[in-house]
Amino acid sequence: MSSSLYVAGEWRTPHASASREIRCPADGTLVRTVSECDAQDAADAVAAASTAWRSGAWSETPERERGRLLERAADLIERDLEQYATAESRDTGKRIVEARLDMQDVIACFRYYATLAGAHPGRLVDTGDPHSRSRVEYAPVGVCSLITPWNYPLLQTAWKVAPALLAGNALVLKPSELTPSTAMLLMETLTEAGLPTGVANLVTGTGAEVGEVLTTHPDVDLVSFTGGLATGRRVMASAAATVKRVALELGGKNPNVVFADADHETALDYALTAIFLHSGQVCSAGARLVIEESLHDVFVDELVARARRIRLGGPFDAAAETGPLISAAHREKVDAYVRAGIAEGAVLRCGGAAPSDPALADGFYYLPTILDGCDGSMSVVHEESFGPVLTVETFRDEEEAVRIANDTPYGLAGAVWTQDAGRAQRVASRLRHGTVWINDYHPYLPQAEWGGFGQSGNGRELGLAGLDEYREARHVYHNLDPRPQHWFAPAGRN
Ligand code: NAD
Repeated sequence: MSSSLYVAGEWRTPHASASREIRCPADGTLVRTVSECDAQDAADAVAAASTAWRSGAWSETPERERGRLLERAADLIERDLEQYATAESRDTGKRIVEARLDMQDVIACFRYYATLAGAHPGRLVDTGDPHSRSRVEYAPVGVCSLITPWNYPLLQTAWKVAPALLAGNALVLKPSELTPSTAMLLMETLTEAGLPTGVANLVTGTGAEVGEVLTTHPDVDLVSFTGGLATGRRVMASAAATVKRVALELGGKNPNVVFADADHETALDYALTAIFLHSGQVCSAGARLVIEESLHDVFVDELVARARRIRLGGPFDAAAETGPLISAAHREKVDAYVRAGIAEGAVLRCGGAAPSDPALADGFYYLPTILDGCDGSMSVVHEESFGPVLTVETFRDEEEAVRIANDTPYGLAGAVWTQDAGRAQRVASRLRHGTVWINDYHPYLPQAEWGGFGQSGNGRELGLAGLDEYREARHVYHNLDPRPQHWFAPAGRN
């Protein structure tokens, strides 16, 4: 077993002797055994970050130099891309081609934040008074706890680490206990790139043990969390006692709205990738098909036919189109949502079970599933199953389409398909979701903000707002000609 506790620039032996086997969800093969760190290990990591932060070794490094380090890190990840992608595939079970694309997106994220170095230092403010000057400048927040999920392990990490470092913070990273490998590689990369000791630390372990410390420790100033809604609520509550800054990036139940005038072949093709990419384990997955009634029958029949043909397989199976779910427990949860939907009146059109192919028996596969005849009252429609499960709802007009699309406690992403440009814009501007696609699904850009409305979260990642999460705005007011004001009685008056 190799240590997965990286504190103050070295791989340390954890206090706890516990360990965890990381097994590939595609076939159960052992990937590695890592440390299951405890609360003391987490506190040590916070102490190291706090020492590094107070030393000023990083926070006082000029921002342009910090940006150059991000560039170097991007170059190193590019150099080691195959190693990173392979590690990510084996931890998550996702296809190697997808993992390679994820790594390209990681690199793009580091490079994007490098370009912001020195570009947004603050601004002068007009005081309206020639005898004073005023400016708003930015300071790092301090020690940041960065907590990430298992579905896009390094990508979600990059969205936090790159802006946090550019802004001059110190950090403790806690990846999902199921997928720690690329976070471990990242520590090596950042050190090789020249990051001062203790600025980036890594603790592997459970949310209950390590996560609890990272969200309650008084020396932590900010918590950035990506994960499920229930955990997000706990994180926010834990952080409240010391009034930490909290950025939550939570789940979604995302509508893919198709009008009858959409280009059918393209809308069909994208409806499949919207939900079945990475077996639906995507926070922005198009899990709710909201389709105009007149198009429903022909569209859904064809969708079902194509979903049945999707080929499942492991990361290195060149014929596979999508992979397994992350764990047995997660597959049970997904299946329970499907059963509940059927019990509540949904019609199972395909899937709804693990595949019978004996070659897939050692993995946590689940067949692409379509539930027709759904409505917003069903738990499978309004709760996130986070699996390859598409629900189908119909609408009659634009008003009803918007109402159904917004009928969710979440608000992460949504799409609208139509050839009517006016309608596309009208609907897009009424969708209460943080990302809206018109005649597309899934693209995002490092330079454009990502985040949720409603219970999809209160933070923003990527773009300039993704940097602002990690900086405090400080207003500096300079009186150029200070004189007594005599608001209160001057000295000597009785
Ligand atoms: P999860 O909430 O179970 O875990 C996320 C992280 O939180 C893990 O590292 C976990 O160990 C940690 N954690 C658990 N309990 C904790 C606690 N009490 N205190 C602190 N940390 C704790 O989520 P998951 O199953 O790993 O990930 C899937 C979820 O992530 C889905 O809901 C998905 O929609 C969401 N997600 C959202 C986005 C986004 O950008 N909004 C991106 C990816 C994933």
